[in-house]
Amino acid sequence: MTMKYLKDVATLKYDPEKCKGCGRCVEVCPHCVFEMKEKRAVITDRDLCMECGACVKNCEFGAILVNPGVGCASAIINSLLFGGEPSCGCDGEGNGNGCC
Ligand code: SF4
Ligand code: SF4
Repeated sequence: MTMKYLKDVATLKYDPEKCKGCGRCVEVCPHCVFEMKEKRAVITDRDLCMECGACVKNCEFGAILVNPGVGCASAIINSLLFGGEPSCGCDGEGNGNGCC
């Protein structure tokens, strides 16, 4: 099953004009959001993006922007990795109880 997140909420932005075709974003993206076509990256489906930020960190040419760590997905992953209740601050109170 393909894991998708909410439609049209991912902060992922991509500028193909800046892409040099190194292929790193394709290698590092855990959800296959990018693929190579004619020596440039293309987005397959933005809604697959979990905003982990790996593509941004690995693109040396500034072609990709994402606001990492703001989604519920990252809150859940951080909770699994580091313990504690998942929190992305979506309750607006900053008390760690608003996520999912
Ligand atoms: S990492 Fe950047 S330059 Fe490399 S293929 Fe992806 S978008 Fe293009
Ligand atoms: S932020 Fe993560 S999931 Fe989204 S496109 Fe980049 S590497 Fe893939």
